Amino acid sequence: MENQIEEIKKKLDIVEVINKFVPLKKRGRHFVACCPFHQEKTPSFVVSPELQIYKCFGCGKAGDVFNFVEEYNRIDFKDALEDLAKMAGIKLVRSSKLSGEESIKKRLFEINRESAKFYNYILLKHKLGKEALEYVKKRNLSEETINKFLIGFAPRDSRLIINFLLKKGYKIEELIKTGSFGKSQYKEGQSYDRFSDRLIFPQIDFRDRIVGFSGRILPSRNNPNLAKYINSPETAIYHKSQMFYGLNLAKESIKKNNLAIIVEGELDMISPFQAGIENVVAIKGTALTEDQLQLIRRYADTLILALDSDFAGNKAMIRSIELADKMDYEIKVLDLEEKYKDPDEAINSDIDFFKKKIKEAETIWDFILTSGIKNYGIDSPRGKKLILTTVLPFLAKINNLVIRADYLKKVAEKIDSSEESVVEEFKKYLKILNNVDSSKIEKKKMEEIEPADMRERLEERFLILALRLKNPKTAIKLLEWQTLRFKKIGEKISKFKKFKAEKISDELDPELKDIFNTLYLKALEEESGSEERKKERSKIINQIKELELKDRLKSLSGIIANLEASGDEKEIAKVEANYAQILTKLAILQRARS
Ligand SMILES: [Zn+2]
Repeated sequence: MENQIEEIKKKLDIVEVINKFVPLKKRGRHFVACCPFHQEKTPSFVVSPELQIYKCFGCGKAGDVFNFVEEYNRIDFKDALEDLAKMAGIKLVRSSKLSGEESIKKRLFEINRESAKFYNYILLKHKLGKEALEYVKKRNLSEETINKFLIGFAPRDSRLIINFLLKKGYKIEELIKTGSFGKSQYKEGQSYDRFSDRLIFPQIDFRDRIVGFSGRILPSRNNPNLAKYINSPETAIYHKSQMFYGLNLAKESIKKNNLAIIVEGELDMISPFQAGIENVVAIKGTALTEDQLQLIRRYADTLILALDSDFAGNKAMIRSIELADKMDYEIKVLDLEEKYKDPDEAINSDIDFFKKKIKEAETIWDFILTSGIKNYGIDSPRGKKLILTTVLPFLAKINNLVIRADYLKKVAEKIDSSEESVVEEFKKYLKILNNVDSSKIEKKKMEEIEPADMRERLEERFLILALRLKNPKTAIKLLEWQTLRFKKIGEKISKFKKFKAEKISDELDPELKDIFNTLYLKALEEESGSEERKKERSKIINQIKELELKDRLKSLSGIIANLEASGDEKEIAKVEANYAQILTKLAILQRARS
């Protein structure tokens, strides 16, 4: 395993790998980008081909190609290893290291894949799927789409799928763990398929793994006791809060457009996708979770919510909007003008209308105001008050103060009130809000900032400047290093005749290696010219000398105080002369500085 990791690292260039996810720009000896892990406008995310590492000087995230893939895709090391091996074209020797939990998960993915293929076959090729296929065709889904999304049909007789899977070598206990199958309460020893007699939408995650299923009942089975949709329960591999339906197919387009359209339910995702509007993903229910928001943050800055028109009244959704706003998303809302009940219907009736509405999508704040006005009217004071009651909680969530001020103004205009009175209402609301909050939350004390060690800081800065030199050796020798980690790095550098960052990095202990890598990247980031850097280096040497002199003065004055107590005049005179000497040196240094 260890060897294979090294082999993968050798085969892959970190710049190429990261560039697949985040477009990199060359700058000097390395590559930069706006950090994918925090929000920023100027790039502080650096990738070094020499050291084969990345580092963000904004948020501090750093590491090698494995760390990047783990962090970026939010997966664990084992999964990153698999992905990178694939990229490198290396076949992993399956070690027995796969933990129990992991091998179970792997089996569950396999069972789900087999089940999906089975259902898909029944739908497209088997007479048992005929009625379902007619229904799907009526919903305008092409065969290509059916295959892309692996849509299928689960036959009413559960034994068909269960026997199929058992024959493949899976055990009944494993089938039950996928969440798709249950043990019959009526017939001892019998199991059943939860999704039986339903149209099947495999839930495929963004890494192309089938994590669960969603089953829709066919319209002909109108039995009021049966839910229209049923979903897999939470299992070891299915977590509803992390799932975006369609993201595996939509992510490229979302990234290209820097925009994700969020819909509710599978068909509302599939229809636009099939019609060429590919940057769509679906959620279950009307709220976006923090996990989902983080997942899609890598692909887009703007979200268009195309959800149930009532979504804004939903508490979980208010929380989602607040989260999304904090993550600096631009949030817009698709308004189908009550002409169509959902995206699926709109696409199938009038795709141009849908496209136009996507272009015209208004910001969430405008949308909330507009719907408030629509619902309550502005003709009566009561209506205005109700509008404010809906709008103000959202307003309080807006992070950006400029947007908030603009919006207050807009609210006043739209409901035909004075800006002052709206602001007054808003302040009242905030007051109530704050009272509630402060009773709950105890204010944290500001942590005291530890005074940084001056010497350490100067040495660090000096080392950075030195690392910018073709060979830092000579410069490093000019300092009497006191900080142990810098001293050790300096010693390592001095051992090499020629300076080669990757060689030095390789030979350092892991802890020192990280420090060295960071300092080296900082050195390459240094923007000052070589003359300027030279001046700064000599300035630091002087500052350090100054510190040393001050230090000695301090200890000498201690000695003098002791001697005075003992009354040794001769000795006192000697030490005082020494003191005066140092004082003169210090004065000269300080004069030179100014
Ligand atoms: Zn960052």
